[in-house]
Amino acid sequence: MKGKKMDQNNPYEMAVKQTENVGKLLGLDQELIDFLTKPQRELTVNFPVRLDDGRVRMFTGFRVQHNFARGPCKGGIRYHPNVSLDEVRALAMWMTWKCAVMGIPFGGAKGGVICNPKEMSQGEIERMTRRYVTEISMIIGPQKDIPAPDVYTDSQTMAWIMDTYSMNRGYMIPGVVTGKPLEIGGSKGRDEATSRGLMYVIREAAKVKNIELKGATVAIQGYGNVGWHAARLLHQEAGCKIVAVSDSKGGITSRNGLDPIKVYEHKQKTGSVQNMEGADNITQEDLLETECTILIPAALENVIRKDNANKIRAEIIAEGANGPTTPEADRILFDKGIMVIPDILANAGGVTVSYFEWVQNLQFYFWSLDEVKSRLLQMMTEAFETVYGIARSQNVDLRTAAYMLAMKRVARAMELRGFYP
Ligand code: NAD
Repeated sequence: MKGKKMDQNNPYEMAVKQTENVGKLLGLDQELIDFLTKPQRELTVNFPVRLDDGRVRMFTGFRVQHNFARGPCKGGIRYHPNVSLDEVRALAMWMTWKCAVMGIPFGGAKGGVICNPKEMSQGEIERMTRRYVTEISMIIGPQKDIPAPDVYTDSQTMAWIMDTYSMNRGYMIPGVVTGKPLEIGGSKGRDEATSRGLMYVIREAAKVKNIELKGATVAIQGYGNVGWHAARLLHQEAGCKIVAVSDSKGGITSRNGLDPIKVYEHKQKTGSVQNMEGADNITQEDLLETECTILIPAALENVIRKDNANKIRAEIIAEGANGPTTPEADRILFDKGIMVIPDILANAGGVTVSYFEWVQNLQFYFWSLDEVKSRLLQMMTEAFETVYGIARSQNVDLRTAAYMLAMKRVARAMELRGFYP
């Protein structure tokens, strides 16, 4: 990346830049930085899927494993038309840092298939999933790399992944994937885990910023797994007022506050949050620029950039999505005094409960919902406190602090293991 201007729209370049910057700050050797900015293993697969009308279409998918120093790799699988190898690389790298920030014994991975699930039938998505998993099955497994849900994949997708992998081995192997339905080895609390973790760190951030969460206003971009559960939990458990939400079709706002459950039902019925009674339609840009206490990007990457960061009117940004803020935007937000709780901390509740699910699968012993919630609370609070402490002592933003903590832990693991042979 040296001497070349960073492409703001390329998440991998962004991830490399963030890693290089913190690597230098930590005084890591250039050799180590080079190692840490390159995924250890990348697999591209091209495979056929029979469509409902009898035709066969080729699909392309990826699985990238960024770093194995601290344990098997872990990371979601995304189905989206814009999936690219560089996007998957960035997401895999962020997973490494996320697991390290949380102190859970995993490295980072990510997968994706270039497809538009909205235009496919359930049968086509199932056949595509089963073939994709078969293609990558030589590099995944409970001790190697454990996938999970991400954009446009859900517990049903995870059930097919578990079944396909198990059928090919001849016995049930629940620990190969997390985010499964409860009936086949899923963990209680996994569906809302990312958003519950998000709420826990928002609570900590509000404490240090002296913000009363009861009645605080919240705007959320994206109303999928992360966005909708965040809206529900912040409304029900923290007393916040949800003033704007959006999805891929556009957004809605209401200064009196939206009822998250009604919005969810409306989206289920009509396919979008827009055109809801009692709310006004707004654009994606309007949503990000909404005056609010907490802004939660919970859709895709690169949405808060140099060109719109100045227009943001929130006190706290909690990154539900991975990579929603570019490094240029980070600087602008820091100067404006807006606290950004970075993705690798803010949305780590998902991978943390995935880790709980994996542990339960390996032991064939399941925890109660209260156990899941209280362990998650403890880990999220501890991670926030550690990151916040570094930010204060080093006078850096929370993202830099989280990267410093994560990279130090990964670098130490690599140092201890040495460079084989
Ligand atoms: P999802 O598929 O359940 O939901 C995605 C949502 O984003 C949908 O509501 C969709 O309509 C909306 N969306 C898509 N394009 C948009 C656009 N251009 N503008 C506004 N909204 C748009 O996905 P998810 O699991 O909720 O993931 C959302 C983000 O959170 C991703 O960045 C993902 O990597 C991250 N994340 C997810 C988890 C998890 O446990 N699911 C964990 C950590 C991080």
